[in-house]
This record gives sequence, C-alpha cells and structure tokens, in this order.
Amino acid sequence: LGRKLNAALSSLNRAPVVDDKVLDALLKEVCAALLESDVNVKLVAQLRQKVKTKVKAALESGADKGKEQNRRHVVQKAVFDELVQLVDPGVEPYKPKKGHPNVIMAVGLQGNGKTTTCTKLAVYYQRRGFKSCIVCADTFRAGAFDQTRQSATKAKVAYFGSYTETDPVTIAAQGVAKFKKERFDVIIVDTSGRHKQESELFREMVQIGEAVQPDQTVMVLDASIGQAAEAQARAFKESANFGAIIVTKMDGHAKGGGAISAVAATKTPIIFLGVGEHLHDLDKFSPQPFISKLLGLGDMQGLVEHMQDIATQNPDKQKEMAKKLEEGKLSIRDWREQIQNVMNMGPLSKIASMIPGLPQDLLQGSDEEGTLRMKRMIYITDSMTAAELDSDGSMFMEWGKDGKPTGLTWRVQRVARGSGTSVREVEDLLCQYRMMANMAKQAGGKNGWLQAIQKMQ
Ligand code: GDP
Ligand code: MG
Repeated sequence: LGRKLNAALSSLNRAPVVDDKVLDALLKEVCAALLESDVNVKLVAQLRQKVKTKVKAALESGADKGKEQNRRHVVQKAVFDELVQLVDPGVEPYKPKKGHPNVIMAVGLQGNGKTTTCTKLAVYYQRRGFKSCIVCADTFRAGAFDQTRQSATKAKVAYFGSYTETDPVTIAAQGVAKFKKERFDVIIVDTSGRHKQESELFREMVQIGEAVQPDQTVMVLDASIGQAAEAQARAFKESANFGAIIVTKMDGHAKGGGAISAVAATKTPIIFLGVGEHLHDLDKFSPQPFISKLLGLGDMQGLVEHMQDIATQNPDKQKEMAKKLEEGKLSIRDWREQIQNVMNMGPLSKIASMIPGLPQDLLQGSDEEGTLRMKRMIYITDSMTAAELDSDGSMFMEWGKDGKPTGLTWRVQRVARGSGTSVREVEDLLCQYRMMANMAKQAGGKNGWLQAIQKMQ
C-alpha cells in the first residue's frame, strides 16, 4: 500500500502543472491502492470526494496564488489529511496511570492474537515502570493457561489462572482482586474468544466485563482477515464496547485495510500494531506518524521513541539527537551513531524500516546481510576525518557558482581507499545520508513539509 501511495504522490511532483486532470489521476491511483488493500469501498469514495472538495475550496480561497508549488502543497496536504482521517476517529484512548490498578481486558475471536498481545502489552508497560500482570480467563481451550504461563514466564511477568476452575468470570474476578491487593499497576485480562455459540461468547464478555470493571477494553483484530475485520469489530463493539483496537499480524502479507475500515465503523482508535510473534513485536500507533511512514517519509516519532527506549543510560544525548533529527541538523557523525545504535538494537529489518532515508536494500535479504551492509557503512565513516564526520557532507562535493553541486572532491577517493571500499560505495553512502537529512528537514524543519501543511489548517 505504502509503495503505491508513495508512487502516486511522487508522480504529482513530476507533473509540470497540477490541474484537475492531474488531481483526478492522482486520486484514481490513491483510491485503487486503498481498495486493493481492503479498505471499505464507501470509505474510499468518501475520501476521494473530500479531497476534491478540500482542494477546490483551498484553491478558490486563493491559497495557490498562481504558484504551482503551492497547488502541489494543497493537494498533498488534502491527501495526507484525509489518509490520516481514515485511521483517526478523533477519540483519545485510555492511558494507564501510575499508582492506580489499570485493568485492561482483551477481547476478540480466537486466533486473532489476544494471548500473544496480552504478554506484549505487559512487557511494554513493565518496561515503562508499570508493575504488570496477566489474568488468563480463557477456560474454553485446554492449553490456554499453559500458553499464558509459558509466555508470561518467558517475559518475566506475573500471571494468574487455573487448571480446575471452569468459570471464566470467577477466574477473572479472583485474578484481578488478587493483583489489585498486590498493588499491580497494569492488570491485563485475557479472554477466550470462543464459545459453542456466538451469543454465549458475547454474554461471557459482558459478564467478565461486569466482574472486573476494566478501565479499558481492547479489541484484538487480525489484519490478515481482510475485509471481514469490519463486521467482526462491529459485532464486538455492540456487546463488549471496546475503547481501543490493536491490529495484529501487520508483519505478514496482510493488507491492513480491513482494520482501517474497522476503525471508521466503530469510531475507535488503534493503539498498537502487532508486528511479529516475539515479545517486543508491538509498535505504538498514532495516525500521523503511521501515514507519514506509509508514504515513505519515515517514522520519526517512532524512531525517536525507540532510541529513547534503548538509550536509558544516556538520556541527555538522546534528547539532543532527537532535537537534531527534528531540526534536520544531523551530521554524518550523528547518523553513524544512529546506525550503530540500530545494530545494537536487534532485529534489523524492523528498526531499519523506521529510519527515513536508510537505503531500501538494507531491508532486503536476511538480517545478517543487512547487518553486513551496515558494517560496511561504518567502515566507510571510520575513514572520515573528525571535521568530515561533523559536517553535513557538503565538503565532499564541489560547488558551482550557482550553489549547485558540480562533482565530488578528492575526499571521496581518500575515504574509499582508506576503508577498502569503492568510490561508488562512498558516493552511495553520501547520497543516502543526504536523502535522510533532507527528509528529516522536510518532515520536521521550520519550513518543513509537515509543518507547512499543519500551518495551513
Ligand atoms: P488468541 O487465540 O487470540 O489468544 O491468539 P494467540 O495469541 O494464541 O495467537 C494466535 C497465533 O497468532 C499465534 O501463532 C501467534 O504467534 C500469532 N500471532 C499473534 N500476534 C502476531 C503478530 O503480530 N504477528 C504474527 N506474525 N503472528 C502473530
Ligand atoms: Mg488465547
């Protein structure tokens, strides 16, 4: 989906003039991409209409002032905003508070990934200083408690359940009462999601809800079920009235559009995405960064958060880094530090996808191959002088009188020789760095793209 949307928007940049024909063609491509990824037909039609109306209104109010660049911005902003609207119902989800037993109940059909997600959530909050635990209220499936026990043990999270008690409501009530008494901050209640009859499942949800009085009920939705997600979410909304959605299996070939439609149908925000089977495969979700990332602008916020997460030893340094990133002032040295951080962070493919401007081929092949490519990038920067590292790369280029680069300096050859790489590889690295720096500047800088479109609101 992202690649198609990105392609559609870049074709907008290539068009010499932005007229109705170009806008129609762009909208056609955007809509086709959305439909293909299982977004509800009605939503797509609405988006198309809204973008058209917005662009028309903006142009009539004189926002274009005859300038092609401004017309482009108007169109980009309208598309961006409407895409954000798709995943943003405008509702603030519940946020767990410290010093209070926050009860979170997970609902959703069996197989959607509830039990896995409960453990991921517990780990997520535990890492942020909340004492977290899991209550297994799935008495339907024989191995359910064993699954919870194993994954909770692995995650070093407290758990509660029973091999003998058959009433899920009793277990849920007992578990929550016990953990409240023990002053846990986040108490996650996992449910079965299956019954002999659907009506009984929904009754069970209601009863467990009444017994544990959750602060937040989360619907766990499987991205891979496509369009069926919407109907499922509607049905659960009626009985379990959840206040947030977690979409799982976003790492697979799932298109995710069904889940997007579920947000609109239930007016409920997505709070996390499940992106793998491991404990840490849980990404925080917010509409704007999600769409930016989808459009290839990189997930700046996600990256900044991730870096803050891993660098607890040196919080000041990380803050400075985040600021530089936002201001578009990242030097080659800073960039290299990021790459090194990435290498220390584990599963490369995941993290690399968050860094704007990191070469796409880094993500191809295995994680080992990607790490090897990163190592070569580090070798190259190892051969740079301190001044070069602290620069924005412009000293590697010859500059013409008009302020445009005309070629490369001897520095490139020196670095290639010193690092045992080729001129081509050094050139590539510089190119990638500039792309990253430009994108960071565009997305976050004072006159950046994101800022510009926000100002226009
Ligand atoms: P439940 O029946 O709703 O409790 O679902 P489970 O938590 O038992 O998960 C069902 C299957 O989905 C398991 O094989 C999980 O490993 C898998 N799963 C859950 N979340 C994800 C995810 O985000 N990505 C992938 N690839 N698999 C997932
Ligand atoms: Mg389960």
